[in-house]
Amino acid sequence: MTFDFDLFVIGGGSGGVRAARVAAETGARVALAEEYRMGGTCVIRGCVPKKLMVFASGYSARMQEAAEYGWDVTAGGFDWSKFWPNLRAELDRLEGIYRGNLARPGVQIFDQRAVIADPHTVTLADGRSVTAKHILVATGGTPFKPARTPGIELAGTSNDVFLMEDLPRSILIVGGGYIACEFACIFNGLGVETTQYYRGAQILRGFDDESRGHVAELIQVRGVNLHLGCDVMEMQRRDGGILVSASNGDERIFDKVIYATGRVPNTAGLGLQEAGVRLGRGGAVEVDAYSQSSVPSIYAVGDVTDRVNLTPVAIREGQAFVETVFNANPTKVDHTNIASAIFTQPEYGAVGLTEEAARDLEEIEVYSAAFRPMQNSFIDKNERVLFKLIVSAASRKILGCHIVADGAGELIQMVGVAIRMGATKEDFDATVAVHPTMSEEIVLMKTPVRTA
Ligand code: NDP
Repeated sequence: MTFDFDLFVIGGGSGGVRAARVAAETGARVALAEEYRMGGTCVIRGCVPKKLMVFASGYSARMQEAAEYGWDVTAGGFDWSKFWPNLRAELDRLEGIYRGNLARPGVQIFDQRAVIADPHTVTLADGRSVTAKHILVATGGTPFKPARTPGIELAGTSNDVFLMEDLPRSILIVGGGYIACEFACIFNGLGVETTQYYRGAQILRGFDDESRGHVAELIQVRGVNLHLGCDVMEMQRRDGGILVSASNGDERIFDKVIYATGRVPNTAGLGLQEAGVRLGRGGAVEVDAYSQSSVPSIYAVGDVTDRVNLTPVAIREGQAFVETVFNANPTKVDHTNIASAIFTQPEYGAVGLTEEAARDLEEIEVYSAAFRPMQNSFIDKNERVLFKLIVSAASRKILGCHIVADGAGELIQMVGVAIRMGATKEDFDATVAVHPTMSEEIVLMKTPVRTA
């Protein structure tokens, strides 16, 4: 049987673009359909614009510190109308690069929605049908809002933040995960009066308990009005804002409400189940270790599979898919020990196991130091950083590392390499410190604070 293409990719995000590009570089005939903007969540409405907002929002604290270090800092407010066009222009530039990366090896781009008609056919929004030997679903995820909350239509999601033409004066962020905590810090840093409601007892469920507590304490010190054990009961339009009634009895009007209550795989209406593809929890495409679905010609990578929902993981999965299918080199992605960072202010970087998870598995030693780094103690800033190692008592290997500090995202990348190589506590001890830095503490912690 002959096909129009060897590979048809649905979705122009990190995973889809990588797979399409490298497959085309093998000489395969490749097409890719994207219904919105090339680059997907990460580039257009996720990691990249978020990080630029993190940079912008970080200057308020920096300016206060600079003044205490002796600089004459003229207090000027943040001007969203200056920042926002530059942000949009940067996203346009990056989108252009993504398009160029696809066009160069000859990927045919369809700027429209594609749905699966059968295991080898996709139908485009303009009515055309295209056949392919393999179909790769890389449609990512989409924000989820709890539909039952009265007035939920008044609340936006992370998607809306990047389209805001004005900065609100006050904002409520709902949720306690990555996105909620990052946005709470961003808006707070930009000078917006920021409130965060989280329904549980502590933010960042699933992360290391001590580190979660540390982050929660510090983001409040920096100005986020965090309410734990608190959820929205109802929202109504009132006086040009949104009146929010909360489970703790509070009633307040906010200029804007953003829900960051998780994301769901983008599989609705894609024709997957009709084609025989098995979907799992929340509608995620069920795949094996090679990203192959229950229909042999259909594969899926990235957030749509709900494995580890991070950009670099989607890219790895896209690359491994091409190795497996186009280079006859079956390749799995190792989903263990993936370092990640939450860009709160200060940041939280983590790799490996939490103290709680490690303790459930084996006997451990915990090394943890919370202290004021030199830069803070000089200006009497009472903000402590946290460095923490979880060590296997039997093998001496580092099972997990957790850092809460400015720049923790950069630091954890390096620790990730060491942990992946199987570094032991003694390897860390034998490493000479870089002085004076705050991260030297990671090789200087001599006595466990807890053993169990
Ligand atoms: P998360 O799953 O991390 O967090 C969702 C939050 O919403 C949780 O606090 C959850 O509470 C809460 N929640 C869920 N349902 C409800 C509800 N009905 N009412 C009230 N609260 C609710 O999702 P995010 O949207 O923050 O992030 C999605 C994914 O994106 C992450 O898993 C991550 O992989 C990725 N991401 C990564 C980033 C990075 O690497 N820096 C940055 C941003 C996103 P509970 O804990 O009680 O369930």
